[in-house]
Amino acid sequence: MEKLFTALNESSEQLAEELDLSYVEAVAETGENIFHGDVLQDELSEIAAKKLRKIYAGIQLDTYTKEEIRKAFQLCVLKGLKEGAHPNHQMTPDSVGLFVGYLVQRFMSEKSSFSLLDPAVGTGNLLTAVLNQLKDHQVESSGVDIDDLLLQLSYISANLQKHPVQFFNQDSLQNLFADPADAVICDLPVGYYPNDEGALSYALKADEGHSYAHHLFIEQSMNYTKPGGFLFFIIPNQLFSSKEAPKLNAFIKEEAYIQGLLQLPLSMFKGEQHAKSVFILQKKGEGAEPPKQALLADLPKFSNFDGMQSMMKKINEWFSSSR
Ligand code: SAM
Repeated sequence: MEKLFTALNESSEQLAEELDLSYVEAVAETGENIFHGDVLQDELSEIAAKKLRKIYAGIQLDTYTKEEIRKAFQLCVLKGLKEGAHPNHQMTPDSVGLFVGYLVQRFMSEKSSFSLLDPAVGTGNLLTAVLNQLKDHQVESSGVDIDDLLLQLSYISANLQKHPVQFFNQDSLQNLFADPADAVICDLPVGYYPNDEGALSYALKADEGHSYAHHLFIEQSMNYTKPGGFLFFIIPNQLFSSKEAPKLNAFIKEEAYIQGLLQLPLSMFKGEQHAKSVFILQKKGEGAEPPKQALLADLPKFSNFDGMQSMMKKINEWFSSSR
């Protein structure tokens, strides 16, 4: 993995310098080159193109697993995003992706094939981390994002990992080009949705002023989940304490069954006010049933082996007793 990261990093640095791009834009360019097995930038000098070809010749993608490719690409994107990313453009951390992947795999275990949608796919790190855990399922997946550079990174990462994902570059709070899915995953963008007109069709629009994008995202995700399908959200812990929360609570109660709320370790976040949880819902509809009891837990640090072992045991017990 380190060798792949080094090659991606060196070629990105070189492309950024030669073409006066930001590092993260150069990561996208180099990813395209590696995927096509060629240097696609005609404006490069012959010497620069030759140097790049030499770096690319040292990479045999087939010798890496999908996870190794995801991680090497993710490290470069992270380095690029550190240059100045808006907090809502931050990629979902590795450990969260792996944990959500585990949950999706458990909740969808009875379906050998299903569709999966991420309406805030960003760099694709969460989506591909989840896909890499669904080895025993046939998954038709799609990802949507409003940010064209992030979506390009997503698409290149999926290509390099050989995941046939359908991508759409659009505002997810308008009518989606993607079809409703059996499962939705979403690391919610938190903040206000600036388009008041666009928020009008939502039950969760604010009574006055801008609406919360994260509330609208929950409603829109529900619109694009098939009846009986599952939703896995990364939510801010304060989701249920804002002044708009009663409306959100009522909406969720009407439309879905709460399956679980798992608080991510506080140590993962800069402060308690930035902490997040994984919130699992099942959309009401044929075959959907409320659990005897929702799965509620505070997750230990992912590096705490014993703590994670006993958490997995607790989750397994919940699956056999409450569903
Ligand atoms: N899971 C992603 C990853 O691994 O990179 C990170 C998701 S990030 C927390 C939230 C994403 O929501 C950002 O990529 C942002 O561009 C996107 N977003 C925000 N508002 C949006 C909108 N109205 N429509 C579509 N995407 C939006």
